[in-house]
Amino acid sequence: MAAFPQPQPNPGVMEIAAYVPGREHVDGVAKVWKLSSNETPLGPSPKAVEAVQALIADRLAIYPDGQATVLKQAIATAYGLNPANIICSNGSDELLGLIAQTYLGAGDEAIFTEHGFLVYKIQIMAAGATPVAVKETNETANVDAILAAVTPRTKIVFLANPNNPTGTYVPVSEVRRLAAGLRPDTLLVLDAAYAEYVRRNDYEAGVELVSSSQNVVMTRTFSKIHGLAALRIGWMYAPLAVCDAVNRVRGPFNVNALAIAAGAAAIADTTHQQKAIAHNDHWLEAMTRELTALGLRVTPSVGNFVLVHFPADPEKSAEKADAFLCARGYVLRRVTGYGFPNALRLTIGPAEANEGVVSALKDFLNG
Ligand SMILES: *Cc1c(COP(=O)(O)O)cnc(C)c1O
Repeated sequence: MAAFPQPQPNPGVMEIAAYVPGREHVDGVAKVWKLSSNETPLGPSPKAVEAVQALIADRLAIYPDGQATVLKQAIATAYGLNPANIICSNGSDELLGLIAQTYLGAGDEAIFTEHGFLVYKIQIMAAGATPVAVKETNETANVDAILAAVTPRTKIVFLANPNNPTGTYVPVSEVRRLAAGLRPDTLLVLDAAYAEYVRRNDYEAGVELVSSSQNVVMTRTFSKIHGLAALRIGWMYAPLAVCDAVNRVRGPFNVNALAIAAGAAAIADTTHQQKAIAHNDHWLEAMTRELTALGLRVTPSVGNFVLVHFPADPEKSAEKADAFLCARGYVLRRVTGYGFPNALRLTIGPAEANEGVVSALKDFLNG
């Protein structure tokens, strides 16, 4: 007991392990390649930058449109959706929190997978509910294991597809089987933050499943392929009843004016998106091949990053590799918190950085 009474956080809050973002600085190293947060090496669409500049000139004193109408319309046009089924947010992380706050409380359970994105666990606990982590198979979500973990208290299942930090995905037939196996009052959240990068015929982000269900939602982000992580823009495609509930919890001006304008311009610039996809197609394959050739195990990824596993030799561990790479200015992501103490996650960067990482790792392993 504290000597003096003090404000007490809600139950569960002090058990949360706070999210640790990817680093961007290394002490004593001037030039750093940040390959730790899955940002795009191509930057945003020039049209998004122009849209922001125009607003900065004369609109900063005015509240943004609380409905983010222009952004919703641009998303709806890009994907052929009804804007009434869309909610925009301050990054998709905000939506994950809003969904948890809207549907979870003490005594409820919510499911995510063993190596799933950590924000789910944080938001479940912040809502006072019980997080349930389900085993994966080959670093991939396992639908049977998820369904087996459902109890009468399960209110939400969070599935990152593809998942971060593994880069693995669940084919649409399996996602459909998962949705079909859940009770109609259990919400399935499909987090498709990397959907644009996936080049597999058996993958779908979830649009069709949301359209044909009452208990499935899909979240998306402008932080990855659209190169707008700093502006914080996410969105959700969801049944009207879910939108109605979440909109009551959402802050009235949760998406700022710069984000609305930039996001609308970015999503319309399909040429820029195609460039980012082409860059990733080439380098995802090349990096997987080259790192494997060095003798490192790489989890097969469909995203814009790879999970690289290090040898059991303590001299060649992920921790030692991380220090070695940082000293040369390559900042990757430690993923101990995701259950991978001996792996690093590498974002596909510009050509120079990708080549530099391979050559540094060659020196590290031969040193
Ligand atoms: C990066 C990422 C997000 C996006 O977060 P924002 O808040 O939109 O920047 C969501 N889910 C996963 C799995 C991610 O890796």
